[in-house]
Amino acid sequence: MKDKKTQKFRQRLLEEYQKLIRSINRNRLAEEEIKLENTEDEGDLATISHNKELLYNLHESDFQRLKQIQEALKRMDRGEYGECMKCGVDINEKRLLAVPWATLCIQCQEEAECEGTVYQAPFELVRELKLAEEEE
Ligand SMILES: [Zn+2]
Repeated sequence: MKDKKTQKFRQRLLEEYQKLIRSINRNRLAEEEIKLENTEDEGDLATISHNKELLYNLHESDFQRLKQIQEALKRMDRGEYGECMKCGVDINEKRLLAVPWATLCIQCQEEAECEGTVYQAPFELVRELKLAEEEE
């Protein structure tokens, strides 16, 4: 990948990174509030634990994303950015624009998902799965 393009992706990754840090901090504050509510009013324990669970899930996906971004930045430094970690082909640029932290090409991603060895759980997919579970 050309330096100029890599620069553009680096910028996007850094922006996402900042957004995530802010989101994680916000969640932390919300968590504190839930704790406070918890001590003041023991009434609605179900709601409290439900909120906690939601926050925990948010945390998890944020941290996962954070790790993916860090990994992508590291790969950029090594000049490996944009290459599939598994088969080495160049990852489609449209895919990178949509998912700048992608480390697998679309084929390998799909294979990994089929095998259940997901290197990188797409956030949207995880959310869809969760929604599906809740509907049952
Ligand atoms: Zn691949």
